[in-house]
Amino acid sequence: MAELTGKVIIITGGASGIGKQTALQLSAKGAAIVVADYNLDGAKSVVAELEAAGGKAAAFKVDVSKGDEVKALVDFAVETFGTLNGIFNNAGIGLVKPFLEMDPESYHRVIDVDQHSVYYGMYYGAKKMVELNVQGTIVNTASIYGTAAALGSFNYNAAKAAVVMMSKSGALELADYGIRVVGVAPGFIDTPILGDDEGMKNALGALHMRGKLIQPEKVASVVTFLFSEGASAINGQTIPVDDGFLSF
Ligand code: NAD
Repeated sequence: MAELTGKVIIITGGASGIGKQTALQLSAKGAAIVVADYNLDGAKSVVAELEAAGGKAAAFKVDVSKGDEVKALVDFAVETFGTLNGIFNNAGIGLVKPFLEMDPESYHRVIDVDQHSVYYGMYYGAKKMVELNVQGTIVNTASIYGTAAALGSFNYNAAKAAVVMMSKSGALELADYGIRVVGVAPGFIDTPILGDDEGMKNALGALHMRGKLIQPEKVASVVTFLFSEGASAINGQTIPVDDGFLSF
């Protein structure tokens, strides 16, 4: 039997990039996956891929910046697969502007989608696990820019720094219930969030030790490990997956 057989894991932002690759890897280890995304067609196509490979999966349309929708997502996972063992709070956006053009709308949009979403996923996810008496795992996607500051990303930097602390603080709050909370801090990953300017992508790739963008599978494999029994003594930490970026 595969290691995660019988486990049910929600992945937000599961239609693309890091979330999609994590869905593929967790499903290959036997977990049933709820692929949650604003992009329902994308989520359905990932579900079709997982099912074609013999996995169990379901799609759910969610705007993670809305608490009631995240609560409905958690309920859907339990109604569909009978329990909840993990949630990967991963959906996110960027909105790059110089600080003097960072109007309240641009600031709040990124804080809502990248930061408040993580609180909603942790809050509704953990409450459900406690209600079900499940000792589960929560993984949050931060960024290298939750520790270092990127120019033009005041909103994103603030949100991701908060995510790093929410993993730490959440781990402390939930330890007594046997729920672990951990994070990943990716470097620049080759996903649609970076846009399609090849020159820009090459320049961003050159910032890493191997001189190229990191493939999303490499973040997914770390997240998959964090959901596994082998990672049971990792708690509260945010693991960099940045090919040495922060070491420069
Ligand atoms: P991506 O664009 O490939 O995937 C993001 C997914 O999130 C998309 O499917 C999108 O539809 C979904 N999404 C966006 N807003 C949403 C909302 N309000 N509700 C529900 N779903 C929503 O990008 P990715 O690189 O896979 O990003 C995943 C996470 O990784 C994000 O949190 C991002 O900030 C983080 N990250 C990415 C990089 C990178 O270089 N790609 C680096 C560091 C951190």
